[in-house]
Amino acid sequence: MKYLIIGNSIAGVSAAKIIRRHDKSGSITIITKEAYPFYSKCLLPYYLRNEVGFDETILADENFYKENNICLVKGRTVTNVLSDKSKVALDNNEEVVYDKLLIATGASPIQIGNGPNIFSLRSFEDVERIKEAATKYKKAVVVGAGPMGMKVAYGLKGLGCDVTVLEAGKQVFTRILSKRAAFVLTKHLMNKGIEIKTNSRFISYDGKHVKIDGASHIEADFVVMAIGVKPNVDFLKESGIKTDTGVIVDSHMRTNIDNIYASGDAAEALDPVAKKYTINATWPSAVLEGETAGFNMAGIETQIKGNVSYNSIQFFGLSFVSAGLLESDDLQIDEEIIDEDIPKNLFKRLVFLDNKLVGFEFLGDVQNAGIYLDILKEQKDITQFKNRLSYLDFDYGKVLKFAGTEERFFI
Ligand SMILES: Cc1cc2nc3c(=O)[nH]c(=O)nc-3n(C[C@H](O)[C@H](O)[C@H](O)COP(=O)(O)OP(=O)(O)OC[C@H]3O[C@@H](n4cnc5c(N)ncnc54)[C@H](O)[C@@H]3O)c2cc1C
Repeated sequence: MKYLIIGNSIAGVSAAKIIRRHDKSGSITIITKEAYPFYSKCLLPYYLRNEVGFDETILADENFYKENNICLVKGRTVTNVLSDKSKVALDNNEEVVYDKLLIATGASPIQIGNGPNIFSLRSFEDVERIKEAATKYKKAVVVGAGPMGMKVAYGLKGLGCDVTVLEAGKQVFTRILSKRAAFVLTKHLMNKGIEIKTNSRFISYDGKHVKIDGASHIEADFVVMAIGVKPNVDFLKESGIKTDTGVIVDSHMRTNIDNIYASGDAAEALDPVAKKYTINATWPSAVLEGETAGFNMAGIETQIKGNVSYNSIQFFGLSFVSAGLLESDDLQIDEEIIDEDIPKNLFKRLVFLDNKLVGFEFLGDVQNAGIYLDILKEQKDITQFKNRLSYLDFDYGKVLKFAGTEERFFI
């Protein structure tokens, strides 16, 4: 069996590990356009901030590929998938055949405008460029107050820059925090010296000033765009593989073509809580989707379970975790329970629909997030113990997990 994986990051490598565990003799090839071994993209903002070194970001060295008998082809871009011939075309005009193919090509930052001092962060090269700008200049503007924008702001602040974050919406972390939690976090970040301007849409950058919708300008030596990502699927246009925003996959991570799978930021899968096809562009989701693809590619039929949106972040000592549905214009909820102690930066919110937990967010104390995540993933009726979940002093010790069953009992 010839397995071919496009993308040497978390989705691709997670799949490769599972395939090798269950198929000792098949050939596995991973092709990546990057020149680096597998590294953690999540650590890039900390690498930017000089909190971690290059080596600490590397997650698999040459030995990993040797031990697992995986052929890694670096620095090569796949330009087309010829699905009727079961082969892919490369940027050097070579072709590589496969029996089973995984598309794990991730995503790229969405960029508005370009110029010498407009950057985005996705790779080591990006970090080096931003670091160079931060050593030469002081005034940085980050566009977008989602997880990426805030992490970039955190990194740049650590390098001594004056950082202003622009957000077109009314709050920071629009999709992953409620207004209340966003307010607490904004206060914390501003106290740490990061300037945050909401309702401020970026219009253009002329190399000296950023123009904001409403005609105001702010000075900027350089700009980092963090307004979201776009799946890397353009090369599939003529492949016959069905795409929308990303590659559409079923619960086995199969595309519309039998022997072709997709996972990670490039894949658009059904979110069991949101009940719609979506891209959960996070590391844990890429692991889960990559592993599920790996099982199915190796012939072990496996349905994905619990592929919900989940974020866990810490800024200047304040942690937060959020998952599921929290705040959106079309969100229908039956009930929410909030417990908070704002002066202590403690906030906990649970969101219910049809007596099921459909979302939660914790700020400050995130210790028990794992149990809530399990409950959210299972989507079971929790009428009986709903109220016991809510308090800030919720005690994990009060929850017993009975091995061998899916049931959880609350004492
Ligand atoms: C700076 C940063 C910080 C982040 N922090 C967090 C965090 O704290 N928590 C979290 O959950 N998530 C975080 N994320 C998101 C997380 O890293 C992604 O969800 C995850 O990396 C997706 O994995 P992937 O394997 O699908 O794709 P990617 O990691 O994007 O990897 C795709 C790979 O495919 C290669 N490739 C693409 N197209 C081709 C082609 N045509 N031919 C050959 N190779 C190709 C790319 O070069 C790349 O190596 C962060 C992301 C970034 C950039």
